[in-house]
Amino acid sequence: MLVIPLRPGDEWAATSTSQSVPENGILSEGAIQFAILAEWNAIRGACGAVRWWRSAIADVHGAMRAANSLLGQSLMPQSYDLEMKYRRAVDLGSIRVLDGGMASELEFLGADISGPLWSAHVLEEQPEKVMAVHRAYLEAGAEVLLTASYQVSRRGYAEFGLAAARADQALLRSVELAVAARREFAGRKILIAASLGPFGAALHNGAEYRGDYECSFAELVNFHRERISVLAESEADLLAFETLPSLEEARAIGVALEPWPEVAAWFCFNCPDGRAERLQVAHGELLRECASLAASFPQTVAVGINCTQPRWLSLLLPELKAASDKPIVVYPNSGEGWDAEARCWTESETGSGAPEDFGTQARAWFDAGAQIVGGCCRTRPEHIRQVAAASGA
Ligand SMILES: [Zn+2]
Repeated sequence: MLVIPLRPGDEWAATSTSQSVPENGILSEGAIQFAILAEWNAIRGACGAVRWWRSAIADVHGAMRAANSLLGQSLMPQSYDLEMKYRRAVDLGSIRVLDGGMASELEFLGADISGPLWSAHVLEEQPEKVMAVHRAYLEAGAEVLLTASYQVSRRGYAEFGLAAARADQALLRSVELAVAARREFAGRKILIAASLGPFGAALHNGAEYRGDYECSFAELVNFHRERISVLAESEADLLAFETLPSLEEARAIGVALEPWPEVAAWFCFNCPDGRAERLQVAHGELLRECASLAASFPQTVAVGINCTQPRWLSLLLPELKAASDKPIVVYPNSGEGWDAEARCWTESETGSGAPEDFGTQARAWFDAGAQIVGGCCRTRPEHIRQVAAASGA
């Protein structure tokens, strides 16, 4: 075990391969910094090696799948099944209340989220605001925190000339902030779900609400695998794939997840107006079919809907129930409508967006079979307080 003395003048109580004990037994500040740096580099090197190993395994599995479909027989190694034993234990059993909107709450707190990376740059520039949002939701009764990473991806960052490493760091930073907020509420069971937007979110053209991407299946798999490889090593309890618009993207995530059978994940689809009434997700496939496919992955701990108008949930919940016996998670938006011409949110005919209305509806969603309820865009801590009251928790 390595114990690094933290202050100059401390006695050298550590064993380290990179630093020898000074003659007088007392360390200088420079020696301490050197020791910390050396150990830090060693840890980073080890993490890099683990990631490399994971993607090498992923490539081998990919080649085997191709060979399987050619030869019509299973070439998957026994070790693949052995890995299943190490699945990360996530107990959603008693969990009922998810948090609410992150980006819109940051905006209410005065953060500028008008840039193309939305809330992602706030992670770097104003992490205290992200912490404040997490804290507000925990005070309101949330039992699951979604990280501020929806928009973070190597591809999205590359479009603005930002390095891949910076995107990876932002992903890890988002988890660290949620972990720090959780620490302030010791004694409560709180899960951290790493928020992962769909491929369309990195295109910055609204494609996530249509699912009409012009990219290959392999590109889609790679997009998701890059982020999974980083977050699989983080302290997040599960990965939350959100606002999924299509059956194909769910399938791609299933393939991307294959090298990490121990990781837990949930899959939430987006059913916009014009599709929801036909029980379809944004790209037009049936929600039931999408949820059923997602539920078939070994990593899946829940399936559901997010960023959808609350008024459609009574219609869509039976579809989720019919799709699988996995726990159901729903986090619709506030019910307000977006007026694209005036560029503002408006009261819709069926929902005012008021927290009390949201709470009344949440009670109905729980009764209809939802296990976990939270909010997406424009929902605030007060909405979540109403959900917590409706949950009976
Ligand atoms: Zn949303």
